[in-house]
Amino acid sequence: MAEIRYDRIPVHDAGGMIIHLPVVDIGPSPPVMAIVAGIHGDEPSPLCLIDRFVLAVRDLPLTGGIRILAAANPPALLQRARWSNWDDEDMNRVGDGSGGPALTRRLAEAVCEAVTGCKVCVNLHNFIMRTPLLAIQPPGLSPERQARHRAYIHALDPHVVWVFGSGPTDQHAFSTSLDAAMEARGVDSFAVEMADLPELDEPLLARGIAGLLRLAAQLGIAPDAERSPKRNAVYVRRQLMRSPGAGIFEAIAPLGGTVEEGEIVGELVPMERPGDRVLIRATASGWLIQRLGRRFVRPGDMIASIGIPLEATP
Ligand SMILES: [Zn+2]
Repeated sequence: MAEIRYDRIPVHDAGGMIIHLPVVDIGPSPPVMAIVAGIHGDEPSPLCLIDRFVLAVRDLPLTGGIRILAAANPPALLQRARWSNWDDEDMNRVGDGSGGPALTRRLAEAVCEAVTGCKVCVNLHNFIMRTPLLAIQPPGLSPERQARHRAYIHALDPHVVWVFGSGPTDQHAFSTSLDAAMEARGVDSFAVEMADLPELDEPLLARGIAGLLRLAAQLGIAPDAERSPKRNAVYVRRQLMRSPGAGIFEAIAPLGGTVEEGEIVGELVPMERPGDRVLIRATASGWLIQRLGRRFVRPGDMIASIGIPLEATP
């Protein structure tokens, strides 16, 4: 039975209100594996996965520690917004905070400090689109790190692996992320995405829990039991599709199925022209790896993404 300790790290005195970073430590010190969630305040699904993971892992004889930061950005979480309006900074775009005084930057620094020394950090997020368990393979890693990432992702066994391109745009997008800041501190770090809370189903949770337990076993801190059949993840580049207008998106193509470029993925019921539906066509051929359910959308909102098999990309 692993010991669970709930603690909190003081980060900032915001005019008499002390902001803390909540920390959960499971098993013996020092921590070897870290799990971070709540970087974005409107992404509650990871809390559900973490809760189930803690219930599963507490009965195991751990030989190394697991550190969990389930609410990495308390002001944004309390506002249920991607970022807090105290400083309007995206916590996933300020690296390790760079010593900045803004609260989001102080919290980013505290997160980086808290995971430093761990071998690996899994950074959990969710999309508003229906999303399977989706791991992100970052760009620009050395061959050794890339090999370690592949092994971790293999243990996690997600449905889909989104492989970042190595072009300047992708490199830049990753370079400002919290994951890049943790990588710079020697922590192998990767992001994992899932569905939003109303669409977070039991099979996805079960796969996530089994994956995290398998990762802990691979790191040598948990017993190496065979957990649920492993399936083959698909490795893809991701092409995002956005809504051309405002209205209600109605899905047609099934999530996870293959689509051909030009095939109808869904329809938009335009706010200003009911009865005059706009067809939404796939912008590439591949797997429909993410897709909204019926949702009210604004122009430019994410409605779907297509996973283009790696061998089909230049
Ligand atoms: Zn996020």
